[in-house]
Amino acid sequence: MPAPRSVSRLALLALASCATSITVPQLDVLNRSLEARTVLLEEGFSLYSPFDAEGTASYAKLIAEEIKRVAAALEAPAGKPVVAQLVAVVGGPGHTWRSEGGKLSGSGPIRLPPLHGLRGAADEEDFVVWVAPTMHFVTGPDGPEIRWRVREEMDRDTIRHEIAHVFLRRLGVRDKLWLTEGVAEEIESMVPEGANLRRQPLPAGIEIPPDLVEREGLVRRVLALAQDADKIAAGETPPDLEGRLLARALVRFALERRPGSCAEVVRWLDARRASEILALEEEFRAWLRSLPPPAPPGPG
Ligand SMILES: [Zn+2]
Repeated sequence: MPAPRSVSRLALLALASCATSITVPQLDVLNRSLEARTVLLEEGFSLYSPFDAEGTASYAKLIAEEIKRVAAALEAPAGKPVVAQLVAVVGGPGHTWRSEGGKLSGSGPIRLPPLHGLRGAADEEDFVVWVAPTMHFVTGPDGPEIRWRVREEMDRDTIRHEIAHVFLRRLGVRDKLWLTEGVAEEIESMVPEGANLRRQPLPAGIEIPPDLVEREGLVRRVLALAQDADKIAAGETPPDLEGRLLARALVRFALERRPGSCAEVVRWLDARRASEILALEEEFRAWLRSLPPPAPPGPG
């Protein structure tokens, strides 16, 4: 079967991707991982998967759920079907996947490309998520072999995050990395409630060290959020987790303080000039100081 999507199509995806500017090494990983895949054409999305039909079905269900939830949260109009691609981080050329009773196992050459924290990319039509089925070892007649089990729930957060990027881009929110990442991180953290998402109660995982809260130029730090996905994937620079956390906190602060729905607040933030966002510094800091402490870990 010819590959349904060409290298140039993937190159376009890479150039337009939100979180990334993926170049040849990642495209190579992507293309090689597209072997022996299942293609599902569902209402609202297409799914390209390296797994067989059974191994793909649970991902399809999850993606359908999350597209509905994120579209509702961002009040995104129905648009073109979203194109979703799963890339297994374990596999490689000649590697095949098969499912038995919900367990996914692989055979053939194994390659495990390290991505150093890079988990997905999106533009306004597509998203790609690197998925890592849980690995476990069993002993076969020829010695130890490695098998994987589908753990798609582990990838739900990342999938929702990338879907948020797709809809944000469709809504025209695209040029401010701090805003797109902050909103995607906040949506990722939300709690599903049927077809909707609700905010987690505060502090909602927004745990900013006290010395950082008091640091000067907190909002400037958020606005300066930048990342080089190639360097992250290569392990040359770590993801800016502190900047992303602060960006999410600033988005959450606006959601708490501004009237209107999540989508209205996002549009309001997008329409602000940098000077207007910078002017929020002291109010933002006071809000961070006021956050309740994180709940102590429960038993077990
Ligand atoms: Zn992102």
